[in-house]
Amino acid sequence: MIQEQNYLTLDHCTILTVNENNDCIPDGRIVIRGNTIESIGTANDIPEKGTVYNLKNRILMPGLINTHTHSPSVLFRGLADDKFLHEWLTKYMWPAERHLNQELTYAGSRLGYLEYLSNGMTTNVDMWYFADAISQAAEESGLRSVVAPGIFSFETPQSAHSLQDAADYLEHFYSIPGHEKSVSRIYPCVGPHDVYSTTPELLKECVQLAQQYGTMIHMHLSETQRDNDAAMKLYGMSPARVAEEAGIFECPTLFAHCICLSDDDMDIFRKYHASVSYNPVTNLKLCEGILPIPKLREKGINITIGVDGAQSNNSLNLLSDAKTGILIQKVTEMNPCIMNAIDAVRMMTICGAKAIGMDNLIGSLEPGKRADIISIDIDTPAMTPILRLNAENISSHIVYTDTQINDVMVDGEFLMKDKQFCRADTREILYQAQKAANYIIQQIDKTGGK
Ligand SMILES: [Zn+2]
Repeated sequence: MIQEQNYLTLDHCTILTVNENNDCIPDGRIVIRGNTIESIGTANDIPEKGTVYNLKNRILMPGLINTHTHSPSVLFRGLADDKFLHEWLTKYMWPAERHLNQELTYAGSRLGYLEYLSNGMTTNVDMWYFADAISQAAEESGLRSVVAPGIFSFETPQSAHSLQDAADYLEHFYSIPGHEKSVSRIYPCVGPHDVYSTTPELLKECVQLAQQYGTMIHMHLSETQRDNDAAMKLYGMSPARVAEEAGIFECPTLFAHCICLSDDDMDIFRKYHASVSYNPVTNLKLCEGILPIPKLREKGINITIGVDGAQSNNSLNLLSDAKTGILIQKVTEMNPCIMNAIDAVRMMTICGAKAIGMDNLIGSLEPGKRADIISIDIDTPAMTPILRLNAENISSHIVYTDTQINDVMVDGEFLMKDKQFCRADTREILYQAQKAANYIIQQIDKTGGK
């Protein structure tokens, strides 16, 4: 028999479902049983159950899905702004990263997850070294996270054998009780960094590892013309073709950036149903280029959005990146109709869920799906007035105005309620992150910026 206390009712809110019809429900009610949405409708249609929260003046929508990030890099926020990509990477980022260790990665990741949470991201796809530390921070935050241990053909701050590190991480993760795929909010995967930073042989080994554990693959691809030129010089083919030949596309795959895909590359994506993570702020700041979204959409490729790391974006706010991302598409095409606010909302939710193979569980608010829900305050100057309670108008406010996240719930558990964190000790997290950054800066200064 189900106890009444297993139920929770979110009441009198405007619900942006992001279901297939983009239904918007004014004066809505969501009844949650445990971690799952049991019913959803108007307050008149369905009976309330369990504890009732009156969320008048709130918009409820699915939690945001950030499909590319590097959490610990938050420790390098502001370290090297306004540089060219190659100089930024080789002179600043890689030398700074050499000072990282397990403990510092953990401190940085905790800060990253706190920022994701405060900005309404309930699921993140995270790639970096020291995946154990990221996993631990993500798990403690209560957010969902797809954790990709970064794999390179050269030495990383963690070790000289990043493929072995990734294998050890996967084995260790699943040996811990509570980490079974059906219950854990952490989903380890395999993260070859890019074609230019691996080898075809190593990519093949990554495929074997992903297949052994039944995980997806997450990697960067064709971020710049320079990456394409390097692959062409070494292998006589594009990075996408190198990845295809290594078997990468035979696993479920999500690629970050993808700015310089050719028509043929896009056909490979379409053939294997691979998804793209659009990272507009990093792409703009490092002058990498602009993702050819109209062409990708023409080919029917699933496009999602990510914040990338704070080392290049500085801020971890998917909503503001979505606004930037669709505005630059408009001006690139000189066509304001090329993307709209509903497209941006779907890119941040259901398209992200599809990219990580979880669209049966998250990405929209529908009965049977997990209760990953955020609420947005509409009782603010920026959200007033609401002209019409429909998907167009509500999405427009969410994407184009200054949106304040009020509550965040994952699996029916409040992680932020009325802007207060329910699990996280903010003071402690900020203190430890500052301490970690102080240590890194000392090391950088000691080695003369190296
Ligand atoms: Zn990245």
